[in-house]
Amino acid sequence: MSATPDTDPAHTNTAGAMIDRLSAQGHLIGDGWSAGDSGGRYEHHDPATGRVQASVALGGATEVTAAVDAAVAAGPAWRAMPLEDRAEILHRLADLLVANDPDSALLNARDNGTPISAMRPGRYAASWVRYYAGWVDKIEGHVVPTSSGLDYVMPEPYGVIGAIVPWNGPMMGMGQKVAPALAAGNTVVAKPPEIAPFGALRFAELALEAGLPPGVLNVVTGGAEAGQALVRDPRVGKVSFTGGHVTARAVMIAAAATLKPLALELGGKSANIVFPDADLDTAAMLAVLLGVGLLSGQGCALPTRLYVHDDVYDETVERLIAQAAALSVGDPSDPVSFMGPVVNNSACTRILGVIERAKAERSGTLLAGGERLGGSLAEGYFVAPTIFGDVVHGSDLAANEVFGPVLSVLRFRDEDEVIAKANDSNFGLGAYLHTRDIGRAHRVANRLEAGMVIINGMPGMSPGAPFGGYKQSGFGREGGRWGIEEFLQQKNVFIAGT
Ligand code: NAD
Repeated sequence: MSATPDTDPAHTNTAGAMIDRLSAQGHLIGDGWSAGDSGGRYEHHDPATGRVQASVALGGATEVTAAVDAAVAAGPAWRAMPLEDRAEILHRLADLLVANDPDSALLNARDNGTPISAMRPGRYAASWVRYYAGWVDKIEGHVVPTSSGLDYVMPEPYGVIGAIVPWNGPMMGMGQKVAPALAAGNTVVAKPPEIAPFGALRFAELALEAGLPPGVLNVVTGGAEAGQALVRDPRVGKVSFTGGHVTARAVMIAAAATLKPLALELGGKSANIVFPDADLDTAAMLAVLLGVGLLSGQGCALPTRLYVHDDVYDETVERLIAQAAALSVGDPSDPVSFMGPVVNNSACTRILGVIERAKAERSGTLLAGGERLGGSLAEGYFVAPTIFGDVVHGSDLAANEVFGPVLSVLRFRDEDEVIAKANDSNFGLGAYLHTRDIGRAHRVANRLEAGMVIINGMPGMSPGAPFGGYKQSGFGREGGRWGIEEFLQQKNVFIAGT
């Protein structure tokens, strides 16, 4: 174990050197790094080239227990720290995330294939850390009116928070979960996924550099075994989980053993409605940029189910095909690429399987893409921007998350019909609509069953706004006062006769 991270500038500036260092260091547990692999090892491939670039140590119960020990031990001092000092550490972390953002973007490109032009993970995470640094001295209690004494309510941290973050935005996920948990006075054990662990480990290095005391943030990389150990540990007060709904069920079952509270940020199949009065150029451009290109479709709230009014269907589809052809697909480390590879070989195979099934089941007409890209991209995990038109409502393609660059386009004739179809889903994370009619915009937004409705544009992603799902897209919210309340419990104190 080494007590401090390697901050030699010669070692920190390239993504390859960071991956070498972070994979050799392993988990951050208490005051040091450890490469314990009781959960096995994961061979990490560069998604753009398919080349093996690291062997990642997978933690299991041994590493998670040690991390929870460290988080428990660090709790009292972190909670007792003067609030201005706690806030200052978080502000310093935000500054470091911004200063290192260009390197973090390149690291992210190698971690999960996200192009540097599409995502600035350091800047994004910093915006959350800074926002919640501002909350540290604004968590207020309440006095309950009574004539028989003094009755007050104090928000208190849970103690240790378990944070299970997804692979499509590991550094972002750390900002969204870790910042509010720490601001509220909790300590944290975070578990990034094995398939993209480096952004979260880099976040932890920067947190130490910012002066976060040892044990306040621990990071154990691993898969299901580490996730289960974290959820089952009775000393973990609450778990905030981001991932798929099937895994979420396993998390709920594990949490039942200790009746542990959960916040679940899950997936979706967000509807996007184009009314006949919409600006079709903008609607088609955003439908493809967000529904196909951004993160190669690997985003929880991306609009992947596009409903287009019959009157403008053909002209919209023409624009969609042109936009898909114009998408710049390539090396995610190259600033000209907007769309990169999918995260790994198994995701690539799975997505191509969904496309083949949709063709075989005649779920829709293939309008663009549908295959793996070859030529100079053949070694990487690149799926062509894919669009299916006239998709059958209720088909697997229309109903379920593909988590790849595959857009389903469906027709509709009137407002009631499209609202019913949009809401006919097990999920309710995001919903989008395009119209120039302000009355219709409000009316439809009110009736859509989703945690977020975006009108004529793209999500604002402000750390002050609540983000989370309806139905099987989960429960709990990240962002704003809702996000910090997830990490606080309320204690009522009554002093009789005062
Ligand atoms: P996943 O469900 O496979 O894994 C999520 C996390 O859970 C990973 O860290 C994984 O290692 C861990 N895990 C796996 N099995 C576990 C188990 N049995 N017990 C405990 N932990 C376990 O999801 P993924 O493939 O990493 O991410 C994709 C999914 O996440 C998609 O459905 C996507 O929509 C969703 N997502 C949601 C949001 C959101 O904020 N709502 C954000 C990003 C991704």
